[in-house]
Order: sequence, then structure tokens, then C-alpha cells
Amino acid sequence: MKKVLCVDDSNTVLLSVTSILAKAGYEADKAISAEDALTKLNNLKPDLIITDLNMPGMNGIEFIRKVRELPPLRFVPILFLTTESQQARREEAKAAGADVRIVYATSDAVQMAKQEPNKQFTFFAVGFETTAPSTAVEVLANPPKNLSFLVSHRLIPPAMELLLGVGDLQIDGFIAPGHVSAIIGLKPYELFPRVYRMPTVVAGFEPLDVLMSIYMIVKQQVDGTAKLENEYPRVVKPEGNVKALEMMKSAFIVTAGNWRGIGRLPDSALQLREQLADYDARIKHDVHVEQGKDILLGCECHLVIIGKIKPNQCPMFLTACTPEKPVGACMVSSEGTCRVWAKNVVIQA
Ligand code: SF4
Repeated sequence: MKKVLCVDDSNTVLLSVTSILAKAGYEADKAISAEDALTKLNNLKPDLIITDLNMPGMNGIEFIRKVRELPPLRFVPILFLTTESQQARREEAKAAGADVRIVYATSDAVQMAKQEPNKQFTFFAVGFETTAPSTAVEVLANPPKNLSFLVSHRLIPPAMELLLGVGDLQIDGFIAPGHVSAIIGLKPYELFPRVYRMPTVVAGFEPLDVLMSIYMIVKQQVDGTAKLENEYPRVVKPEGNVKALEMMKSAFIVTAGNWRGIGRLPDSALQLREQLADYDARIKHDVHVEQGKDILLGCECHLVIIGKIKPNQCPMFLTACTPEKPVGACMVSSEGTCRVWAKNVVIQA
């Protein structure tokens, strides 16, 4: 029986991962810290190590380096199970010995799988309606069977609707994202002015686009109207990108999805259709996430994300939580609200 050592400082994660592995016929051992794992590795020769990245004491990167110093374990596969998304950290993980590869297009993952047919590849398909079509194109094109897709695409309009249900946010209008709208068109936003009387303007990303869209929202407010307007017609067509939408429809069904810091939203996520199950990493590798580790104790990301507080109202902002050592999701990505505030102190004044 193949042995797997799981290392994580969360007992919940350890229990869930090891029970999944046990059900799949693996002998799964647990270690509650990197130090604990190194002690266990004196007597244990696992076929695979699954480790968290951020752990108190020795972190996952240091742990991998230590493992790679042990001759019998120099080539044991190591898999990261983490919410970490910062590129520098991934590179660090890769340098320490985990096989994490950064690709710039889904087709790159397909090429890798073709070139290394004896190895299993999993492509982490993340992003909104903008990136979902490129996943759809590749998965529908009969890619090699040693490639699977861990699909975590999310849809924007359901998240906008959620915000309207949060009573005291005082939203005066929506600036709808131009890149997403280029794919989905205008129709999915129609309910906001019609049902919620919320001015909604699809905008581009240039400063003048944003200024213009604010002007259009203010004008609607002054005129006492609520309309859907397109400030970005040079890119966004009312019907969207019909071809991309067809591909998405062929590849995915719409389902409920977990949103980091927000919770589970109905009809907000994409999942591969049943006929593509051979490519679904969740089925192929029996991946089940019972409970995400999305909000750490003291982090106010869930309130920042929905606009209820500003990043500098979080007690950890630029003290315990910095871009170099992020505590929460909003400080990790370069597009995260806390990260943007941390890098643009003038805006905070
Ligand atoms: S500053 Fe850090 S801890 Fe606070 S909300 Fe932002 S990400 Fe979370």
C-alpha cells in the first residue's frame, strides 16, 4: 500500500485529507507541524508528501528544503496544499523541490502533458468569465489523458447581487468590469436597474473610462433613473462574445461555489460537465474540500472585500499583515484590496 505523509497545522485539514486518502486506499500519516513531520520521517519512507505552506515554526518551504537534504527522500514527490497564490512564494516552493509550474496559457499545460506522457498534470483553472473560455477551449479539444483541470472559475453577477443583499453598504451604483463584460455582454446585468433600481455602467480600465462611468452613475442618480449603460462599446458588445459563451456552455455547468471570505453563493461557479469527467481533477484525483482555510483569526478580509471597512481599519494592516508577510487573502494578490492600499499610501491619507 502506498504511503502518504500529510503535514498541516490545522487538525481539520489533516483529518479531511487523510480520510480522503484512506478511502482511496492509501496509508495516510499525519504531522501537525514541519518539525513533527521531520521526526516522523526518521522512520517513515512515504511515497508522497502533502504539505501546507504557512505553518507556525518551520514553514512549508523550509520543510521541503530539509526533506531534500535527506538522501532517501531526495526524489519523493511533494505536493503543496495551500491557499497561497503569490507568485514569489510559488517560485520559492518550486525552487525548494515541489513541482509547481507557472504557465501563461492553458495550452502550455496541454503541451507539458503531451511532452511528459508518464506524468500526471493538473491545471489550476482559476479566474472569472474572462479566463473560463480558454479553459473550455482546451478541455473540449480532447487534451492528453494525463492532464486534468481543477476548475475554480467564478461568475461576477451573482457576487454583485450578494452585495445588494448586504443592507448597510449604501451602494449608489455598479461599475461593471469591462473584461468580464466583453465575454458575457450586457444581459446578465439587466436585473440590477430593473429589479434593484441600481444604476449600472459597464466601464473600461483607463482612468478616463472610470471617471466617465462615475459621471454616468452620478447623472442617473441626479436624474432619478436607474439604467444599464455601456461606457465601453469599443470592446463590449451587447451580446458579448458569442463564440466564447458557446464554448463555456459546452464545457461547464453553473453551480454553487465558495468565495474566499464571503461563503457559498448559489449559481456562482463553473464545473466541468459530466461528459468531461475524465478531465475533472476533483473526480480523477478524488479531491474534496470540506472546509476552506480562507479567513484566519483576526483577519477582516471578508469585510474589506464587500466594502464594509477600509483596509486600514483592520488592526493588523501593515503591522502583523504586510505584502511581504500577508495574513489574509486581500494582502496576497497584487490586485487584493489591502495589498493595493499598502502599496499606495497616498490614497489612505
Ligand atoms: S490587512 Fe491583512 S489581516 Fe487585515 S483584512 Fe487585510 S489581509 Fe486581512
